[in-house]
Amino acid sequence: MTGLLPGDPAATVGGVATERAFCVLAPNPSPMTLDGTNTWLLAEPDSELAVVVDPGPLDEGHLRAVLAAAEQRGKRIALTLLTHGHHDHAEGAARFAELTGTQVRALDPALRLGEEGLHGGQVIEVGGLELRVVATPGHTADSLTFHLPADGAILTGDTVLGRGTTMVAHPDGVLGDYLDSLRRLRALAAQHGVGTVLPGHGPVLTDALGTVEYYLAHRAARLAQVETAVEAGYRTAQQVVARVYADVDRALWPAAELSVLAQLRYLEDHGLI
Ligand SMILES: [Zn+2]
Repeated sequence: MTGLLPGDPAATVGGVATERAFCVLAPNPSPMTLDGTNTWLLAEPDSELAVVVDPGPLDEGHLRAVLAAAEQRGKRIALTLLTHGHHDHAEGAARFAELTGTQVRALDPALRLGEEGLHGGQVIEVGGLELRVVATPGHTADSLTFHLPADGAILTGDTVLGRGTTMVAHPDGVLGDYLDSLRRLRALAAQHGVGTVLPGHGPVLTDALGTVEYYLAHRAARLAQVETAVEAGYRTAQQVVARVYADVDRALWPAAELSVLAQLRYLEDHGLI
């Protein structure tokens, strides 16, 4: 589950993104998943071992397309990672693990296959490829970002998307956590020269810092709109959505409602309403 404000539909998705990252686009486009889920194949150029991030939905054709892409590039998949547990990212993981014989590592123990967990602060190394795990809860409680320092890139799952903005999936997602995560990514981008965003949906972005700053500004603006709506007497999440998200495709209103619930909780927790 993802975006609330799809933007330019012409931007291309899939294929070579950076020296170490290749995208296989899953055939599950929708207002919530934009062009579909981006499954990422990562490897050092001179290594035959690859990591897959987010196998995507349980779609045999897609999972086999990921395998074929690895084979074409002379790679063998050695590990599967999940950015979070939403079905459009994780549903195919068990089948993919079966096809590849790999472990699945995720923050949520229920999604893991194998012994090893995954959490912020860890460094994953496969065939010389280094990924630093960054805890970025907010979209969901289990959301992670993977920092690929060699390419100055971050794989953000649904925390940052290639178009529009994402949602905070109340009650699992918490807005205060999400804002903290965006600030963490802003600091990472500023201090470690991260330029590229490899998102879970939508095209690759080349201005990580600007994008995260836009997200923070957008969240602040939406929050102010919600606060104003509540002050004007709009009480339920549905009423607030109809008021504040009038510019957004109605297909996304159910998702917007979850975001509004997260915002109402944030405003309440901070004594603002
Ligand atoms: Zn999601």
